[in-house]
Formats: sequence, C-alpha cells, structure tokens
Amino acid sequence: MEITSDQINSLKEKLLSSKQENLNFQKNFSQEISGEKMGDMVDLANSNLSGKLETLFRARYVEKDKELNRALDKITEGEYGECEECDGPIAIRRLELNPTALRCVACQEKIELN
Ligand SMILES: [Zn+2]
Repeated sequence: MEITSDQINSLKEKLLSSKQENLNFQKNFSQEISGEKMGDMVDLANSNLSGKLETLFRARYVEKDKELNRALDKITEGEYGECEECDGPIAIRRLELNPTALRCVACQEKIELN
C-alpha cells in the first residue's frame, strides 16, 4: 500500500465533511420543499413536482451516504485504496479527487466501456 496514514487521515476528514455536507444539503432541500408546499397548497401540479424532486433528492442523498460510508468502512478495515476489481492500489491523486473511488482507473474505464 502506497498511501501513508497522513494521507488516509486527510481523506477520512474529506469523507466525513462530505457526509455532513450531503446531510445539510438534504435537510435544506426538504425544508425548502415543505415551505413551498405550505405556501402554495392549491398548486397541485407544482406539489407533485416537489414530491418527485424530493424523492429524487432523497435517493441521491441515500446513494451518496452509502458511498461515503463504504469508503469509511474500508478505512476502518484497512482496505482503503485497494481496487475492488484487481486488488491493485488506487492512485492517491485519484482518491484525492474522488475519495469514494472503489476502482483503479484501468478497471473503472473497463466497466464504463461495457
Ligand atoms: Zn483495478
């Protein structure tokens, strides 16, 4: 493993702050949506849309939270930075850009091409 514990720690901080951001975003969005519904009860079309958006955003939130938890679990288990496909190391530059990356660039490209 080429990643140092300092690097892991700073990535872990990034993951934890992303979790918080993700949660805040979801909270703010829900508040906005419910505020809008209250102020605009007669506009059924609009509230349907709001409901759809809320479902969409909630799904996005859950998905992202899962990804972040998965990366944090990997740190705990000492498996962080290993590619899920080939068990090779994921480049630190890649992890710094995307701390939830599960695969090395080569494997990710293979999956995206399929
Ligand atoms: Zn790989």
